[in-house]
Amino acid sequence: MVSCTDIEPLLSDYADGIADERARRIVERHVQLCTRCRQRVQAAHQVAQQLRRLPLLPAGVSSRAARFKRRLEARATRDPWRLEHYPFFVSALLASLLILITLLALFYLGI
Ligand SMILES: [Zn+2]
Repeated sequence: MVSCTDIEPLLSDYADGIADERARRIVERHVQLCTRCRQRVQAAHQVAQQLRRLPLLPAGVSSRAARFKRRLEARATRDPWRLEHYPFFVSALLASLLILITLLALFYLGI
């Protein structure tokens, strides 16, 4: 019979249901004869089940994440040539034109 020490590294994968065929057979054979390891497998299995039931994200986070994703997608698909997306650029352009017109007016009026 395989010892409890040999079984220990296999218990976690077995409880998670990801142990390969050989490891699964070894664990199942051992726990039929060993009460202590059988209890450990049951406890690990319960922990694995409880962990699977936990939500991946806290409540409310997934809806906020979905909203944020929609905003990012909308921003990515909007027309990049619309000037309303560049308020600083529009302001700087208007200020430059105003200064240019003022300088031209001063120059032609000879002031
Ligand atoms: Zn054992």
